[in-house]
Amino acid sequence: MPRHFCHEQPETLTLPTRVLDARPGAVVLEQTPFYPGGGGQLADRGVLRWSGGEVAVSGFEADGGRFWHQLASPVEIAGAVEAVVDPDFRAMMMELHTGTHVLNALVYQQFQGALVTGAQLNDDASARMDFDLPEADNDRLRALEGQLNDVVRQDLPLRYVYVPLAEATAVHGLIRSRSVAPPPGDDGTIRIVEIVGLDRQACGGTHLASTGRSRPLRIVKIDNKGRHNRRVKIALG
Ligand SMILES: [Zn+2]
Repeated sequence: MPRHFCHEQPETLTLPTRVLDARPGAVVLEQTPFYPGGGGQLADRGVLRWSGGEVAVSGFEADGGRFWHQLASPVEIAGAVEAVVDPDFRAMMMELHTGTHVLNALVYQQFQGALVTGAQLNDDASARMDFDLPEADNDRLRALEGQLNDVVRQDLPLRYVYVPLAEATAVHGLIRSRSVAPPPGDDGTIRIVEIVGLDRQACGGTHLASTGRSRPLRIVKIDNKGRHNRRVKIALG
């Protein structure tokens, strides 16, 4: 899979581009600012504008390294288009996603390297993470809320490197999740996101530029999901 445009230019949410392939109600674009979803992060929302009007983008379908943008009506589009990502939705996903990394880092460090078994961001400014934590004390997990907000206050920057997959799998803890590890790119590398001074892990999602751009985080619920799994729900604000 080629590197996502949204990884290289995360600030560009409106992009003039053109249609490479089309069928009624779906297009492949030459370049796209949309994040197509994955790793627990919801796909971007937004619209395509072209000479015939405007249509909402309702979803994405991967097809051999390309992404079909599914459209809300069965229009047929060709030629030049403007792809427009909903900035508020993207901003909320970045904020939530960054929050899940901070939670994940604290759990990993303080609960013997516990791995993630699932993650899901929601469109109501909440997210859940499942951890493989057979013996965990839920009160200790709940007490992480103060530390989450310490990390927000410290305003730690985020940065990215691409490392070969074999190298990434050799470093314990770099691939943190058992279920949502990102696929390697065409060049065989995997994207590592670092919260400087706190955490490094493989991830293909979108994040804030620094932790201080997040609203405060709350731990709203902890559920035992089976003998091994703890489900921690966080929310913004
Ligand atoms: Zn991430």
